[in-house]
Amino acid sequence: MPELRKDPIIGRWVIIATERAKRPDQFAGQQKEGPVTEKPCPFCPGQESQTPPEIYAVRRGTPANAPGWKLRVVPSIAPFLRIEGDLERRGKGLYDLMNGIGAHEVIIETNEHVANMADLSEEQISRVITCYIDRIIDLEKDKRFKYVLVFKNHGWVAGGGRIKHSRSQLIATPVNPKRVKEELVGARLYYDYHERCIFCDLLKQELASKDRLIIDIDGFIAITPFAARFPFEVWILPKKHSADFINLEVAQRMDLARIMKVVLAKLKIGLNDPPYNYVLHTAPFRRQKVGYWKSIDNDYHWHIEIMPRLTRVAGFEWGTGFYICSLPPEDAAKFLREVKV
Ligand SMILES: [Zn+2]
Ligand SMILES: [Zn+2]
Ligand SMILES: [Zn+2]
Repeated sequence: MPELRKDPIIGRWVIIATERAKRPDQFAGQQKEGPVTEKPCPFCPGQESQTPPEIYAVRRGTPANAPGWKLRVVPSIAPFLRIEGDLERRGKGLYDLMNGIGAHEVIIETNEHVANMADLSEEQISRVITCYIDRIIDLEKDKRFKYVLVFKNHGWVAGGGRIKHSRSQLIATPVNPKRVKEELVGARLYYDYHERCIFCDLLKQELASKDRLIIDIDGFIAITPFAARFPFEVWILPKKHSADFINLEVAQRMDLARIMKVVLAKLKIGLNDPPYNYVLHTAPFRRQKVGYWKSIDNDYHWHIEIMPRLTRVAGFEWGTGFYICSLPPEDAAKFLREVKV
């Protein structure tokens, strides 16, 4: 059973992956590029038996776990957290821990063996967006979970593994992730003072100045953030205020797909298909501690953060929590604006 452990000083939870633990010597000399696999891709049609049984699929009339689908969701074959069991929150002296309960799912975005989401059609990306929403709504029913993080690892350096078939993942966690909590707290403080959403204010300012604006289409904008942590870090935000991604209307999903495709294509073309991660930051499930989350629908604003992995986080970052970004976000935005897609 994996374990969730809390750092007693700063309150950060970590997952200690006991089951997929490596031997210490397996960390030595990690390769830059993954080995090429000879086996057929387990995410392609016809290989359904290579994955655990599907949880969700977009298919027309074909039986589950058989070909004839457009998108599939399966449990991770090497989950970071386990779906079965109770949390059993407990203390050991000054240390807090609980069982590593959670859901870890893989969203196979397409039935075509395509590596980069940038090469999917807008229709297919909008199917992926609908799938994210459907899965979050389903996992919210499990009272053990407080948050679902949707993310993507593209390329070996970004944790994308050796199989080059476009997919994203989600992990439902029994605690709120620290990074999300920091955003929630910051947004609430701003709202308490100004009675306005900080993200809405930021949007207005970025649209007015245009210094960091990459694209503004169909109710969404893509910008490089003022305090970017990484070169070419990009945020995508809905222009209309909304705390919770699951409220995205069907008509807007195609618009979000369109801007995601443009941004990912700009990164692919402009930077020679770099490895990247993206995360979806949305409001946590709002059922516990009603008082605490009272203003969340007003003060939080969902967004997607895309982080190309062109530099490495090193000693100073680890020691301080400061990031050193070797490219001004204004220069990154200008570059990306000019990449033709
Ligand atoms: Zn494939
Ligand atoms: Zn807002
Ligand atoms: Zn965020």
